[in-house]
Amino acid sequence: MLEERARRERLLAAATERASACRKCEIGYQRRNNVYGEGDPCASLMVIGEGPGETEDLLGRPFVGRAGQLLDKMLNAIGFAREEVYICNTVKCRPTLPGPRGPKNRAPDLEEMANCRPFLDEQIDIIRPRVIMAVGAPAAKSFLGRDFQITKMRGRWYEGPAGIAMMVTFHPAYILRQTGGELTAVKRLVWADLQAVRAKIDEPVVVPEKPPEQASFF
Ligand code: URA
Repeated sequence: MLEERARRERLLAAATERASACRKCEIGYQRRNNVYGEGDPCASLMVIGEGPGETEDLLGRPFVGRAGQLLDKMLNAIGFAREEVYICNTVKCRPTLPGPRGPKNRAPDLEEMANCRPFLDEQIDIIRPRVIMAVGAPAAKSFLGRDFQITKMRGRWYEGPAGIAMMVTFHPAYILRQTGGELTAVKRLVWADLQAVRAKIDEPVVVPEKPPEQASFF
């Protein structure tokens, strides 16, 4: 396992360098840091968000602003320390819009997500988690199609890339924007999604039985 961990770390380090050199999109020239992803290369759970925000862009790390602090709490609530999970985004550069007081965050567009997809697919392929938790509509849409509606379609299991079980839940930034009764309702839904993720990860791994060796005379 130690060798496997080291192999994955090497692959991720090489991919981080390639991602840092990427300038396929305009946002590649605007960002301060490439935010490739971080966490346990052998994680059973991979969290995929939409794209880095201001704090993430500044620090080169995913989910380290307010939404990230809430994500950490959500993970802790189902028994995961942040370091035990692998966390990344559909795009590795911060998507921005010009604003009067400097650039503002925006959701990544389809072209940016498509340009960044090889990096994400490679990450998934290296980590091969048991479960992917996509947070927010843009991340869900990038896997499950443009018609994905988070309020109607979250909280169910989908088949993600490489047949990996995928759960979609609300983005922590969305939860932070709710108040009063809406906040209570959203928290209840997210808690159910998180518990489903925990239960899936706790399911015993079924190793398919090898078919009996074929007899040599036919
Ligand atoms: N929101 C995201 O989707 N990703 C981050 O890394 C931070 C905030």
